[in-house]
Amino acid sequence: MKQIIITYRQTIQESYFHALLRSFYPGCAIRFLQEGGQDQEKKKKEERSAEKAEADEPLYFLIVREEKGEALFSAWEREKTFEKTCPLTCEGKRQEEEFKNFIYECLCEFTEKSLPWGSLMGVRPTKLGRRWLRAEEKDLQQMTEAEEKSLHGSIAERYQSSYHASEKKAKLAADIAIREEKLIRRLDPEKGFSLYVGVPFCPTRCLYCSFTSNPIAACKDLVEPALGAMIEEIRQSAGLMAHNRPDTVYIGGGTPTALSAHQLERLMGAIAESFDLSGVMEYTVEAGRADSITKDKLRVIKEMGAERISVNPQTMNPETLALIGRKGTPDEVKQAFVLAKEAGFDHINMDLILGLPGEGIREVRRTLSEVEALGPDSMTVHSLAVKRGSDLHRKITEEGIYVNGDCSDAMELAMESAERMGLLPYYLYRQKNMSGNQENVGFAKGGKFGLYNILIMEEVQSLIACGPGGISKRVKVQKEEADGVHITRCENVKELQSYIDRTGEMIQRKRELFETM
Ligand code: SF4
Repeated sequence: MKQIIITYRQTIQESYFHALLRSFYPGCAIRFLQEGGQDQEKKKKEERSAEKAEADEPLYFLIVREEKGEALFSAWEREKTFEKTCPLTCEGKRQEEEFKNFIYECLCEFTEKSLPWGSLMGVRPTKLGRRWLRAEEKDLQQMTEAEEKSLHGSIAERYQSSYHASEKKAKLAADIAIREEKLIRRLDPEKGFSLYVGVPFCPTRCLYCSFTSNPIAACKDLVEPALGAMIEEIRQSAGLMAHNRPDTVYIGGGTPTALSAHQLERLMGAIAESFDLSGVMEYTVEAGRADSITKDKLRVIKEMGAERISVNPQTMNPETLALIGRKGTPDEVKQAFVLAKEAGFDHINMDLILGLPGEGIREVRRTLSEVEALGPDSMTVHSLAVKRGSDLHRKITEEGIYVNGDCSDAMELAMESAERMGLLPYYLYRQKNMSGNQENVGFAKGGKFGLYNILIMEEVQSLIACGPGGISKRVKVQKEEADGVHITRCENVKELQSYIDRTGEMIQRKRELFETM
């Protein structure tokens, strides 16, 4: 594995440069060493061991922002060297951006590559577009088509000129930012909130999974205690929000339909008894795995008030499904979709992942054509992100399993497919280590944009999260903050037995977070 060694003098935002370098050099080991710092000895040792190993020939970078307002970038690798300096003209936060852009430009020159999102490394690129929109102070609902087009153009242009985003990504981000902002402005961020309940069980564990999920058969003795703990947490949490009503409810996980129909009924019953659901605009249950969906469970979900359901194939190629440990076949996915239709769900979503092991364009084309034939109301397209804790990460590093590192062509196909189905992009987020430095995009029919997804990703509303690993957020309007809100969080423990044993503590954490609401 190639090693990248980055030295720096002044403090730099390591996480940003780690993500940036990783995007230019996927799969490389990256080390940060402060020049003249305590790491100097470590650096020397590493240099020596790196020199010994021919295959590990390191690539060195020096990234410097001098206090006097100058940036320096050098790169060297055996015979290849590169050096550039640049005066920094801005101050404070803007200087940070100027510096990042300069390093990005140097890397483009040095590698003769560019990135689809340019120097933008954040998880939520559309937050920026929404910030620019708010600064315009325009009434988005009353705008003429021509005015909206011109606003769209200026937002897209800012993504390109300020961050070197490609024209396609800039337009996509501007599209979504406008669509989201229109929806968000209809809500009262202080009054409403979203409720999330994470069910920590799945039929089996997928190879790429990094969520709080346990194969249900392997921990059957913990299912009832965990369900009891979640019901208690739901009941107690409702008391914290007694004066507010949820705008959206989302039951995810895990795979909620890994529970039996009766268990689902008890869980959803506790939600209905504890919260005032009369103002809910969207109620989703992730049915997720086709191998867990039955007529009975669909009936319960529908009767308990959920209208939006996710039937997630991820891929429609049987070989890949077997390889990634998702039991169930493409035929089962189709049957589950038909069952959900017959059960009368108003909104069926399907999730796909691009860049799965062994999959290229041919496989993605096949998946998309099968999904198109079913015609979901919405489709969420993820670019594979290989998480450190996943079995897939281990297989790649230890067994050399092949994963296509660039799924930009596949994303193009997915966008074309969404367009053919009449689905519009409505939300977007990025993750660390995403295949091809792409993004995850939600597409939906007009009027069926996933409100919960938007609210959570844009962090504009408080979230009560119940279940192991749930992260509750308190979002408070605060005009002086860059995004107009101040966010505080509290986390539930992830491990199942700890969650069961410490439910009271999880509730107390939430109580402290939401106390003064
Ligand atoms: S269905 Fe989702 S949550 Fe469950 S194991 Fe697979 S990836 Fe993880």
